[in-house]
Amino acid sequence: MCMRVQSATRVTRFYDPDTATIIIPAGLCPTLTLRAVTAAVAELHLPMEGDTPLCWCGEPLTVSGLIPRQRDGEDEHGAA
Ligand SMILES: [Zn+2]
Repeated sequence: MCMRVQSATRVTRFYDPDTATIIIPAGLCPTLTLRAVTAAVAELHLPMEGDTPLCWCGEPLTVSGLIPRQRDGEDEHGAA
């Protein structure tokens, strides 16, 4: 199962092993979001490639859909 990243308004734990999901606080700016993900990745001993956190399988962890798009058009996917 690939690692996912999700934001939540209330974070009780930074990682949900049942769904392999890293949970970070909602509403962070991109810099802090990346920092939170990186911290979680370090805690989980996931690999990094430069500044990019990687999944177990070596694919970059995508944080897309995480940051609310405010002026970026209408191409938001999976916002259900
Ligand atoms: Zn993966």
